[in-house]
Amino acid sequence: MSNAQSKKRIAIFGSTGSIGSQALEVIQANPGLFSVEVLTAQTSDDLLIRQAQHFKPNIVVIGEEKKYEKVRDALSGLPIKVFAGEKALEEVAAMDIYDMMLAAIVGFAGLRPTLCAVERGKAVALANKETLVVAGDIVMRKALENRSPVIPVDSEHSAIFQCLIGETRNRIEKIILTASGGPFLGKKPNFLVNVKRDHALQHPNWNMGAKITIDSATLMNKGLEMIEAKWLFNLRPEQVQVVIHPQSIIHSMVQFEDGSIKAQMGLPDMKLPIQYALGFPLRMANEFPRYDFRKPNTLTFEEPDTKTFRNLSLATEALFKGGNLPCVLNAANEIAVFAFLRNRIGFLDMTDLVERTMQHVPFIERPSLEEYFESDGEARNFAASLIKL
Ligand code: NAD
Ligand code: MG
Repeated sequence: MSNAQSKKRIAIFGSTGSIGSQALEVIQANPGLFSVEVLTAQTSDDLLIRQAQHFKPNIVVIGEEKKYEKVRDALSGLPIKVFAGEKALEEVAAMDIYDMMLAAIVGFAGLRPTLCAVERGKAVALANKETLVVAGDIVMRKALENRSPVIPVDSEHSAIFQCLIGETRNRIEKIILTASGGPFLGKKPNFLVNVKRDHALQHPNWNMGAKITIDSATLMNKGLEMIEAKWLFNLRPEQVQVVIHPQSIIHSMVQFEDGSIKAQMGLPDMKLPIQYALGFPLRMANEFPRYDFRKPNTLTFEEPDTKTFRNLSLATEALFKGGNLPCVLNAANEIAVFAFLRNRIGFLDMTDLVERTMQHVPFIERPSLEEYFESDGEARNFAASLIKL
């Protein structure tokens, strides 16, 4: 693995985010294994420029077009092509200049570039769970058709993926998705009604981007992950179970037909699932802290409080009904989280917004890709109209 040719060529879509930056740390620690070919960001021009100067990718894309000149000028002395805008993300995703895309854009915006990658048969390390929530049927079908391996980055799904290695002929009875419960575990609506943005942004176990941190506090993250799991592992809705495990040591479990349960464990550190996905099927040695069973510790498990954290019930409904309902749930949630982060609505209003939007947008049982986009737009418009009132 000494010459550049044998390195895995990585394209990081969303390189300035929490996942993207940690992926670059993993790559930096393993220079013989990877080369960085593509870096993209939406608004963080300075960080993108620094990353590009350091990793010298082939191509850089800045989402916000007004920032194009600045990025281009800053990188003008280097052999790096600079593009801007949403379309450029898709065009670059379709290019034959990389082996694996790390899909680390947040939200619905990650769907089109990821689709381009699977249509070209690229390997995809998938962090962007919203892609599968919105259009999991289409993404996974195209991945299968084009032999595009989709390796999960989400820690729970990475755990399940690892538990399934060597089990191709064995049936899954169910999967058990573990949830930390977030910062408001055990709290009731009378407390949650007053929760503000800064409080909700403090997660006990994980340091993540703003959107997923809020999703973790409302348990919508776990709801999205149930739907993500269904598509990744081809499960029936009733095979997906959520259990609260506040210590986040067991990252998830698979129970097989014989009742035997496999778990994947470790300290909560996203670099682990990130490096597993980038290096798959290789496990790369590292110096990360290890979990020590000899220290006093207790692993606990409990049922989620779906009466308080109703997002989990809404997502379960979307999981079971399918069609465009998960897409609508996701779109309304993106609007709700965005509004909450701007102090426009309260913590519990987020769930109401999602629920009302799910009731409003007409159900489509087998949507085409265009219909997913239409449902997304319709849901966003309706959810936004509720906020303005
Ligand atoms: P983040 O907000 O930290 O980073 C998002 C990245 O996407 C940034 O590089 C940003 O520039 C880019 N981006 C944002 N909006 C965009 C748009 N409209 N078009 C193009 N690019 C855009 O998010 P994150 O926490 O790194 O999460 C990324 C994805 O990974 C999410 O889907 C999240 O659910 C998933 N995920 C994250 C974690 C975590 O620990 N952070 C864990 C599991 C899964
Ligand atoms: Mg997760």
